[in-house]
Amino acid sequence: MARTIEPDCRQCRREGCKLFLKGERCTSKKCAMERRPVIPGQHGNSRRRVTFSEYGTQLREKQKVKRMYGVLEKQFRDYYEDAKRMKGIVGENMLSLIERRLDNVVYRMGIGASRKQCRQIVNHGHIAVNGKRVDIASFRVKVGDVISVRENKQELEGFKALKGMKVVMPKWLEFDTNALTGKIVALPSREDIDPDIKEQLIIELYSR
Ligand code: SF4
Repeated sequence: MARTIEPDCRQCRREGCKLFLKGERCTSKKCAMERRPVIPGQHGNSRRRVTFSEYGTQLREKQKVKRMYGVLEKQFRDYYEDAKRMKGIVGENMLSLIERRLDNVVYRMGIGASRKQCRQIVNHGHIAVNGKRVDIASFRVKVGDVISVRENKQELEGFKALKGMKVVMPKWLEFDTNALTGKIVALPSREDIDPDIKEQLIIELYSR
């Protein structure tokens, strides 16, 4: 399976913002964006105030979102193509489709500390959708789907620690931390997704 091999913190430094790829470390003082927020590479310090062309700005925004969700180029472009075929605003449709990835849903439910960890949880077959094991991170959930940690996995240390915890949930999701089961109650809307994403720039880039 293809995946990004660039170190997580380096990706944040490249984009100049926190992408929250490493769980707890991202909110601690150890975060590389707190300690050394410069562009990676030998001349990183001197390139801090780099200004981008219109194309460069669009490209950086696309790269940022791809990295945030851990999606590679081909799949990311497919989200754009799917979004174009849907009714409504293309940028918002695209973000909504990415947000509906199973690994992201597991992350939003608080089952794992980062999207990367959640992707692994899914790939290792710990998650069930409507009672059936699903190990495809890009699986697209729909309204009414029931997402749960599989019964025979609930006694694993990482999941046991979750039981009874209070988790702040976006309004399109429900999650019972005692049963480790949740439900998709609505489709994610633009307000449910990171307000710092400028999806219009990505659409402009792909429409060139
Ligand atoms: Fe990014 Fe997290 Fe690394 Fe900070 S700790 S640079 S937010 S991946």
